Amino acid sequence: MWAFLDGEFVQEKERLVQLENRGLTFADGLFEVIRTLEGRILFFEDHYSRMKKSAEFFNIEMRFPSEEARRIAVELVKRNGIEDGELYIELTRGTDPHRDHRYPPKETRSTFFMLALPLRKIDSTSWRDGVKLLTYPDLRHGLCEHKTINLLPNVLAKNFAYARGGYEALMFRESNGKKYATEGGSSNYFFVKDGVFYTPEVDNILSGITRGKVISLVEDLGYEVVEKRIALEEFFNAEEVFLASTVSRVMPVRAIDDVSFEVCGKHTAKVMRAYEDLFFSAR
Ligand code: PMP
Repeated sequence: MWAFLDGEFVQEKERLVQLENRGLTFADGLFEVIRTLEGRILFFEDHYSRMKKSAEFFNIEMRFPSEEARRIAVELVKRNGIEDGELYIELTRGTDPHRDHRYPPKETRSTFFMLALPLRKIDSTSWRDGVKLLTYPDLRHGLCEHKTINLLPNVLAKNFAYARGGYEALMFRESNGKKYATEGGSSNYFFVKDGVFYTPEVDNILSGITRGKVISLVEDLGYEVVEKRIALEEFFNAEEVFLASTVSRVMPVRAIDDVSFEVCGKHTAKVMRAYEDLFFSAR
């Protein structure tokens, strides 16, 4: 399999990232996961501009302008013969031999790589039968709006859910003894109550590309979408719940802990259909 690293296409044996890379020693970097479908790369601009905004915030050099990065991505997907897959992009603050918390000297180049991976396996019954969520404390940092590679709390939360037969964690933060839903290890959440859609506001979550598309589609369908701070109880009292992410797309939730929901209820079914239409026609 080919990868792209710092300006060239490389094969496995040539994928040489230094052990002192700040991505490894400090998780000092950003990433994106982008879906490919029949060899096309979906919503590239949305993902790349999210990375660019965060790179500006963290002052990490963005080595390739968007058009060039897109051309590289297209070539990489083609070289690897990936049809339905995932394009992974990572950008780190580069290699710093001193392992110093201070940013390295200006001339240190960032490290930029792309991988084109086959699509991870998801049981296709998940979209029909819904998936289970397990609630778990949100242990992440205050920079969750950036897609940083600091993912240990997300790894912990998802594995807590997997170990109990779940697909994802529904993370929550406590404030004055009350628990508020945030997001999943790698998903955003929505629920429907009395014909209105609700989703946690963008404070303390990653503003998912899929979440954004879903909000527009739901509004186009004529529904009201409320983005606000949402207590966990409101999720438990919902009529329909679903998750949204690049890889899971729109996926119905059948249970959170021991509370069950109607799967693919009439509102969720409409959103799933609308998203699938957008997904299959996206260029
Ligand atoms: N939240 C987190 C923490 C994530 O890692 C992801 C996956 N990128 C999402 C939400 C969903 O975002 P997107 O729709 O951009 O894949």
